[in-house]
Amino acid sequence: MGTVEPQVATSQAQAPTTDGFQLVIDALKLNGIETIYGLPGIPITDLTRRAQADGLRVLSFRHEQSAGYAASIAGFLTQKPGVCLTVSAPGFLNGLNALAHATVNCFPMILVSGSSEREIVDLQQGDYEEMDQLAIAKPVAKAAFRVLHAEDIGVGIARAIRAALSGRPGGVYLDLPAKLFAQGIDAEAGRRSLIQVVDPAPRQIPAPDAVKRALDLLRGAKRPLIILGKGAAYAQADADIGALVERTGIPYLPMSMAKGLLPDTHEQCASAARSFVLPGADVVMLVGARLNWLLSHGKGRTWGGKGHKEWGGQKFIQVDISPQEADSNVRIDAPLVGDIGSCVSALLAGMGAGWAKPPAEWLDAVHGKKTANVARMAETLAKNPVPMNFHSALNVVRDIVRANPEAMFVNEGANALDFTRSIVDMHRPRKRIDVGTWGIMGVGMGYCVAAAVETGQPVIAIEGDSAFGFSGMEVETICRYKLPVCVVIMNNNGVYKGTDVNPRGGEVAPTVFVKDARYEKLMEAFGGVGVYATTPAELRKAMEEAVRSRRPTLINAVIDQTAGTESGRITGLNPAAKKK
Ligand code: ADP
Ligand code: MG
Repeated sequence: MGTVEPQVATSQAQAPTTDGFQLVIDALKLNGIETIYGLPGIPITDLTRRAQADGLRVLSFRHEQSAGYAASIAGFLTQKPGVCLTVSAPGFLNGLNALAHATVNCFPMILVSGSSEREIVDLQQGDYEEMDQLAIAKPVAKAAFRVLHAEDIGVGIARAIRAALSGRPGGVYLDLPAKLFAQGIDAEAGRRSLIQVVDPAPRQIPAPDAVKRALDLLRGAKRPLIILGKGAAYAQADADIGALVERTGIPYLPMSMAKGLLPDTHEQCASAARSFVLPGADVVMLVGARLNWLLSHGKGRTWGGKGHKEWGGQKFIQVDISPQEADSNVRIDAPLVGDIGSCVSALLAGMGAGWAKPPAEWLDAVHGKKTANVARMAETLAKNPVPMNFHSALNVVRDIVRANPEAMFVNEGANALDFTRSIVDMHRPRKRIDVGTWGIMGVGMGYCVAAAVETGQPVIAIEGDSAFGFSGMEVETICRYKLPVCVVIMNNNGVYKGTDVNPRGGEVAPTVFVKDARYEKLMEAFGGVGVYATTPAELRKAMEEAVRSRRPTLINAVIDQTAGTESGRITGLNPAAKKK
């Protein structure tokens, strides 16, 4: 980057020819960012207008949280930072949830917020929407920056991009005070101040001795298991990951967003035997998956440990870009630090010819368990109860997804999440996007928008009725941009289920919603298609039509209100259930 003296012009003759607004737009474009997810207002309204006029795609949402979630998942899908643009204080705070989500999930995202004037904020003199946004963003962001001078915009955006993408990706906050946008500087100086980031996510090649240590451990295993996480999906090393799984012959378990990296119908997929392979394995190779709560921290009964905190004796190999991840929960015997693409190709190269498949005893045992569980599930799915339950509805969804393997698939809820994850197979990488590391609700409609925009594919969203409520107003956004989104609400009249009663009479129980709510009319209100479906046949017809027509559609799938369970599959985290 050339060093440039700021040349703020004052006289008529030296009229400034560029300004902060323009430099932000130019810096984003220079770095290949094509889409802004956001919500206009003071002080960024003109930024959204000018960005659009300059050829950026600017998508306006009804709430910043949805815009932020959209940006975060755009980052996951594209390996480019998703950009979310918000106004100051309240807009910024609404976007903060998504910033934290991006950081926790390792998604590259930049939250750009306008802010009030530093001089007034720092003296706490009560400016319009006064808030020290930078300080508030820091604890939930991978990095946070503020730009005060127009000539530093190039550096600010370059640093934000590098921080979001390099190493373990994450959420970055960029604070742009209102005054910055109107600052004028000489156009040539402005142009020279911009930075096109070179190699923003450098490959990280694993050390040869670490590769050897991992392979030695894997080679000696009697009951090996591979766990693929969303880091593996993010890495876009699909062919090599597939080759590693197939050449080793090791059973694998995909974490939720790694489903489809290899088709869930793959013969080595051990999803249907999860509770057998976790405690049964002797060596586990984690590929872009953390041993956090979603894997019971690598210990306890899930892993064959006797007590709650006891570990089951497995040895672990962990392939991860973060050198600090190993040993976070249990000992990692062979950490393999590097980007997944480089690590997996090094493993493949190191395996050489003549790699022996795992002992038949183990493979047969896994296969046996899996076959029995699949058969049991098939029986449940074939039932056709009245009213429809999660299983009979999801049996339809499973068929539709199989027939449309390229469609994007969004999923959130409690029961609507857990049942869907285990019943609906994914067939291609990075199709399933869901509640992620925190198991949050509210990502739904924001994810739908970004999935449609970034991939051009039809989107199917399976939503709990409660989960949908967090972002439901974005159906207007979906209709406005005419996106090919089919939302299916699993409507069981409440949170977990719709049958709770208030023991004192009077107002309904806290988990219960309006009975027989007509969610489909929300979509109709904005020109989309609404369908009320009470049978699997009606659901099938409506989903087929939605995917075919690519019209925004909301299907209100009426589910037996007694069908859910408390907290879905994570009942163990519910303090009331814990006590029992
Ligand atoms: P899951 O929830 O699917 O188990 P996690 O979010 O727990 O996945 O883990 C993802 C892991 O992947 C993180 O530890 C992160 O550091 C790692 N990761 C992300 N991107 C890459 C990459 N390109 N190469 C290697 N590791 C990565
Ligand atoms: Mg519900």
